[in-house]
Amino acid sequence: METKKFDIAVIGAGPGGYVAAIKASQLGKKVVLIEKEYMGGTCLNVGCIPTKTLIANAHMMQSIKHAADFGITTGPVSFDYSKMKQRKDSVVEKMRKSLEGLVKSNGITILQGHAEFVSPTELKVRGDENAIVSFDKVIIASGSAPLDIPAFPCDHQKVLNSTSILQLTTLPKTLAIVGGGYIGCEFASLYAELGVNVIILEALPMILAPQGKTISDVMTRAFIKKGIDVQTGVFVEGIDNIDEGISIRLKGKDPIVCDAALIAVGRKVVSEGMALEKAGLKVGDRGVINVNDKMETSVPGIYAIGDVTGKYMLAHVASHQGIVAAANACGKSASMHYEAVPAVIFTSPEVAMVGMTSEQALEAGMTVAIGKFPFQALGKSVATGETEGFAQIITNKQTGQILGAQVIGHDAASLIAEIALAMANELTVDCIADTIHAHPTLPEAWLEAALLASDTPIHLPPKIKKV
Ligand SMILES: Cc1cc2nc3c(=O)[nH]c(=O)nc-3n(C[C@H](O)[C@H](O)[C@H](O)COP(=O)(O)OP(=O)(O)OC[C@H]3O[C@@H](n4cnc5c(N)ncnc54)[C@H](O)[C@@H]3O)c2cc1C
Repeated sequence: METKKFDIAVIGAGPGGYVAAIKASQLGKKVVLIEKEYMGGTCLNVGCIPTKTLIANAHMMQSIKHAADFGITTGPVSFDYSKMKQRKDSVVEKMRKSLEGLVKSNGITILQGHAEFVSPTELKVRGDENAIVSFDKVIIASGSAPLDIPAFPCDHQKVLNSTSILQLTTLPKTLAIVGGGYIGCEFASLYAELGVNVIILEALPMILAPQGKTISDVMTRAFIKKGIDVQTGVFVEGIDNIDEGISIRLKGKDPIVCDAALIAVGRKVVSEGMALEKAGLKVGDRGVINVNDKMETSVPGIYAIGDVTGKYMLAHVASHQGIVAAANACGKSASMHYEAVPAVIFTSPEVAMVGMTSEQALEAGMTVAIGKFPFQALGKSVATGETEGFAQIITNKQTGQILGAQVIGHDAASLIAEIALAMANELTVDCIADTIHAHPTLPEAWLEAALLASDTPIHLPPKIKKV
């Protein structure tokens, strides 16, 4: 087998790996990017991009359905799901091709194949290309995969995971979603808007538990309004294949019959199959590769980034870690900070958050001031008919430090960027209040929330003061 020599080898071409490869190449290194499946990893092929492309279809449908509110007459609205799937596939294909071009334009060698260690400085690559890759430094970005539950494994026909459900060309009439985390909720919202009867089965007492009670309550109410059956505190014991579809056995409850189920109970890291022991690398709990804030593993010269580190399973975190790892691997100094990581749930309504919730700030013993501004009171929202939800800032009452923010409503995903920027640069809530925000726009909600945090709202009546 031919030996190829590089300065930096990167395993996995997801949003962690390809960004790390580009950064290392920008820093003047000879880089190889090794990928066993598709350029773009989970995010581009079976995660962020395909799901948001399908969600865009549902948004379009909803806009057309509400056209009459704007004086626009349309005929009956119908859709062909197989065409929606086709559009999703072509978006992914187009982006995959342009990503490959981008990587190559940076002078990076792409090797298509499975990488495994033969020593701390060598990898064996097997696949379309077979080679021994020798390197000075390596960045592992092998990602994650859907978690299968042995009691009810996916058959990918009626019992699906987040990857196989994307291959459907027709929609089930009824769909049970096992798991009310962010992935389960995004699919629930999407399919309910396309007319599927959706049941969420969540073992915890609430859906979206990691996002806190405020968000969970708002989303539960919105889902119920949409016709989604949200069942919490239920434990799925098994799933049986029956003529009518599937029967879901629940602990202490009657079984539920439906056409299909989506298992969305979490993801497992991908650290097996790389012979990490030959590099002297031990994995931690659930197979995660532990790293410090420089993305260094316990073995000098070996870095790990993205989902496989088990920290945050978010594409933009993987990419940022990729930049930090590449900088350190190329002799610069960079560190990760996680205080201002934005996260978005692309449900309808959309949810976005950064930093602490009010519960977390109170638990940490802080004196908090909260500014919560409803979109109902915002000119732009009323003009566009998108008045659901609110923007909320959590601040330290003594110092004005922004501790976190949550926003629920139209384009929450874009809105959270302002507070992430403010937090990452340690701006206070007064900086938001002192910034001129264009009118009429949605970001004015932050200006108002900032003013509310100091009890000086302009566009809400003052609180009634006790005499
Ligand atoms: C349905 C769904 C929706 C999501 N939506 C969002 C979202 O809206 N926003 C967001 O931020 N995140 C979202 N995510 C999460 C996001 O996709 C991941 O956090 C992100 O892809 C992680 O990037 P990564 O580079 O660590 O790994 P991955 O994207 O998983 O890429 C890892 C790559 O490594 C390759 N690989 C693994 N082992 C080897 C090996 N030995 N040799 C060669 N190649 C190997 C794999 O084939 C894969 O291509 C979503 C995930 C899912 C499943």
